[in-house]
Amino acid sequence: MSGGTKRKIVFGPVPSRRLGMSLGVDLVPFKTCSYGCIYCQLGRTTSPVLDRREYVPTTEAVEAVRDALVGGLEPDYITLSGSGEPTLHSRIGDVIRGIKDMGVAPAAVLTNGALLWMPEVRRDLAQADVVLPTLAAGDEEVFRKMHRPAPGLDFHRVVEGMEAFRREYSGQIWLEVFLVAGLNATEDQVEKMRLIARRISPDKIQLNTAVRPPAEDGVVAPTMEELDRIRRAFGPAAEIIAEFGGKGAGKKEGTAVARRKEVSGLGGAAKLSEGAATAESGSGAPRGGIGIGAGGKEAGRTGGIHRGYGADPARIADEMLAIVSRHPCAPEDIAAVLGLSLKDAGRILDDLRRKGLIREERRGGRFYFRAVPP
Ligand code: SF4
Repeated sequence: MSGGTKRKIVFGPVPSRRLGMSLGVDLVPFKTCSYGCIYCQLGRTTSPVLDRREYVPTTEAVEAVRDALVGGLEPDYITLSGSGEPTLHSRIGDVIRGIKDMGVAPAAVLTNGALLWMPEVRRDLAQADVVLPTLAAGDEEVFRKMHRPAPGLDFHRVVEGMEAFRREYSGQIWLEVFLVAGLNATEDQVEKMRLIARRISPDKIQLNTAVRPPAEDGVVAPTMEELDRIRRAFGPAAEIIAEFGGKGAGKKEGTAVARRKEVSGLGGAAKLSEGAATAESGSGAPRGGIGIGAGGKEAGRTGGIHRGYGADPARIADEMLAIVSRHPCAPEDIAAVLGLSLKDAGRILDDLRRKGLIREERRGGRFYFRAVPP
């Protein structure tokens, strides 16, 4: 496989419920993060870190975005996210500036928000159009259980960082509230998080949960009824972005799959409408991953056989690997994102599995593929 040995910096575009067609930019090596969230869909963080470094050469990252846009690709957002915490990249501000200079799409940052107490991180992120931090605890005890943070991080420091960022930043803040049953989806925690959210004063509050396979067994998503109760508690700025797959998922009119079918005219993609998911990627890294059913510009525009890769299975396999190494995906999701028939996608996925590059996991009655960590 052509890119099997080197991780791609840019992946997608993938349809995201929050960000439409989102071109992902991954600035850190796999699972380089300041947290080790129990719900992380990428698996465990071996050693949470606070060191900011230029993990990926800045010029290489900006060039990789420019290359991805060759041919007129116009994603809804160019999103710094991926397989760890992007604010750990010490020159994220330069990458954002480089993206914005291209003038093609707004820049979004999916972040755990843990480093916003650092003035230099706030300065870097102030250049983005949208910043999407995560809140998943109402106090120190739950913060530690949920995030297992790097030494030196504490709950109050993180919350104060988010508040300071709000004061200084005039762009959009979309606060993800990540909920786990029995841990922070309780009345007491919801009330504490509601008060914190009021202080942060985000433009949107987006409730999410572990729909996809999490790092730890025993992480349970609240029911839709519980989520709805919590949404009402958070008030009119709140919306539920988690969607549960399974029976009936993907049958909604107007999903990206349906649009791809209409727009691309690909026979293969058309076969997918039966089983395609509408799930936003569960956890954090997440934060804002693949969600078939995204709004935004029509999926078919970016697709066909993905980004003009033609019928080259090796290139498609590279792209699949780039996607599932950031978001566990159901085969239907992958097929839809890449504009392939389920059969063709299945053949390439089987090949990747035989090579030991991906593995299959079951969650909520669905199968997901995720990359085997390097
Ligand atoms: S969910 Fe996000 S913040 Fe949490 S460990 Fe995973 S990558 Fe880090």
